[in-house]
Amino acid sequence: MALEPLAPETRNYIDGKLVDASNGGHFENVNPATEEVIGVCADGTKDDMLSAVAAARRAFDESDWANDHALRARCLRQLYEGMLEEKEQLRSIVVAEAGACASLTGFMHIDDPIEMMSYWADLANHYTYEQRMTDVPFMGQPQGRILRREPTGVVGAITPWNVPVYLNIAKIGPALASGCTLVLKPAPDTPWSATHLGKIAAEKTDLPPGVLNIVASSDHLTGEILSTDPRVDVVTFTGSTATGRRIMECAAGTVKKIFLELGGKSANVVLDDADLAGPLGMGAMCCVHGGQGCAITTRLLLPRSRYEEGVAILENAFKTWSYGDPTDPANLQGPQISKRQQERVLSYIEKGKQEGARLLVGGGVPKHLPKGYFVEPTLFVDVDPDSTIAQEEIFGPVLCVIPFDDDDDAVRIANNSIYGLSGAIHSGSEERALAVARRIRSGTLSVNGAMWFHVDTPFGGYKQSGLGRENGEMGFEEYLETKVIGVKSTA
Ligand code: NAD
Repeated sequence: MALEPLAPETRNYIDGKLVDASNGGHFENVNPATEEVIGVCADGTKDDMLSAVAAARRAFDESDWANDHALRARCLRQLYEGMLEEKEQLRSIVVAEAGACASLTGFMHIDDPIEMMSYWADLANHYTYEQRMTDVPFMGQPQGRILRREPTGVVGAITPWNVPVYLNIAKIGPALASGCTLVLKPAPDTPWSATHLGKIAAEKTDLPPGVLNIVASSDHLTGEILSTDPRVDVVTFTGSTATGRRIMECAAGTVKKIFLELGGKSANVVLDDADLAGPLGMGAMCCVHGGQGCAITTRLLLPRSRYEEGVAILENAFKTWSYGDPTDPANLQGPQISKRQQERVLSYIEKGKQEGARLLVGGGVPKHLPKGYFVEPTLFVDVDPDSTIAQEEIFGPVLCVIPFDDDDDAVRIANNSIYGLSGAIHSGSEERALAVARRIRSGTLSVNGAMWFHVDTPFGGYKQSGLGRENGEMGFEEYLETKVIGVKSTA
C-alpha cells in the first residue's frame, strides 16, 4: 500500500498554540517494525501540563464553550473535515509509530475514528440538554421540575499506544461535544497520533484557546497531574488495570469523577454444535495487530467431544497466518510496540511452558524478521484455566486453548477472570448461544462472529476491565452532570 511520506506535527498544543516543551526538550519516536528513529516529539514537562490544565480551566469557566452547543457542533465538524483532509498523513503516522498494519487502517485505526467525529458533532447539537419532568403534587400543589444535563468541567484524558488515533478521538469527541474542556496526555510510544490532531485543531478549527490541549511527554508521571490537580473534574483513562488502580487512588484525594477502560482476557466459546471450520479457521485472528487489543478473545474454549478436531484446524490456521511488515497489505499482524513489550510477551510464553501448557505453534522471535519487535503467532493448547497465561493479559499474539465439558462448564471458565471486557460464542443454535451470552459477565459479546463495535454502541467492562462506558449517548453522558430545578408556578 502506498503511504504518504511522514510530515507529522511534533509540537504540543496548549492554550490554542502549537508549542515546544518549556525546557526545549525532545524525545525520540521509534518505528517498532524497523527499530529506526523516525523523528522526535516535544517532551512536555510538568510545567507544560500545569499550563494546559490552567488553560482548560479558564476555557471552561470563562468562554462560551460550556453553554454554546452550536459553537461546539461547528468546531467538531471543522475537526472532522480537518481530519478528512489529513487522513493519509494520519494513516502514515499510525503505521510508522504504532506498527499498525496498513490493511487495518481502513477500520479502527483511521477511517472509523474520523467518521466518529461527525457523530459527536451531530450529538453536540441534537442532544436534549434540558427537559421538563411531569409535575408531581406536594402539599396539594403541583410541583414542576426541570431536568438539566450540564458539562462536568475539565477532563484529563490519558491514552495508551495500541490504537492511538481511535483512542484519542474516543476521548476528545464526546468530552468536547458535551461542553467539557480537555487535556490529553497520549502514550509516549505514539505521540504523533495525538500531536497531529493538535495541528488540525490549531490550523483548521475555531476552537477557543484552552478548550483542547495535547501534552505529549516521555514521562508517564506527567499524566499523574491530571489525576491529582484540583482543577481537573474528570479523569478518563484507557490503559492497563494496574495504572487504572493507581489513577483511582490519586483521584480519590479530590473526589474526581473517573472513567476507566482497562484490560481484558476475553473468552471465545465454541459450543459442540458449531461449525468449527468458520471460527477456528479464523482462529489466528487473535494475533491481529500483534494481539495488542483489549477486546481480543485470547482464551479459546473448545468442547472436549470435538477437541482434537478443533485443535487441528487451529494449528493449520496459525501455521498459515501471514504476518510481518505492516506496510505489506497481506499482513494483519505487525510488531509489538516496543522491545519491552516484546520481552514481556516472550516471558509469558516461557511461563506458559513452565506451567505445563502444550506449545503447538510459534513461541519465539521469527527468524525471518531480524529487525523489529516481532513475536511469532503462538498457539498453546491444554491450558489450565487457572494458570498465569489463562489469567493475565499478555497483550501479544498468543492464544490459550482450554477444553470444557458442557455449557455450564464453559460459562464457569469464561467467568473465571478478574476481567469482563468482551467475548464470543459460536453455536449452530442462536438461542443456545444467546443463553450462554446472557450468563457471561462482560460488557460486549459477539454471537457467531457478529460485530458489536460502532460509535453509537456503549463499550466498556465488567469487573476489573473498567468503570463507565465509552461511545454512544451513554458514553457522552459520562461527561455530563445532572441538575434538577424544582419550579413552583407563580400564576
Ligand atoms: P499503561 O497503563 O501502561 O499506559 C497507558 C497510559 O497511562 C500511557 O499514556 C501512560 O503514559 C499513562 N500512565 C502510566 N502511568 C501513569 C500514572 N501513574 N498516572 C497517569 N498516567 C500514567 O497501558 P499501555 O501498556 O500503554 O496500554 C495497554 C493496556 O491498555 C492494556 O492493558 C489494554 O488492555 C488496555 N487498553 C484498554 C482498552 C479499553 O478500551 N478497555 C483499549 C485499549 C487498551
